[in-house]
Amino acid sequence: MWSSPEHRTERCASCDTEREFTQPPCEEGHEVCPEWSCVICGSALFLAMAAA
Ligand SMILES: [Zn+2]
Ligand SMILES: [Zn+2]
Repeated sequence: MWSSPEHRTERCASCDTEREFTQPPCEEGHEVCPEWSCVICGSALFLAMAAA
């Protein structure tokens, strides 16, 4: 049920509810960037990626 790999729904600590998150352009060259940004308030969320 993935709608898009570039968006996901996570709980936003700032909004205190579920929000859609999107990935800002990565400036650090991560192959899989852990940084996501709330589309409502812009709060950053770092998701721990499963170690490859
Ligand atoms: Zn990155
Ligand atoms: Zn938010």
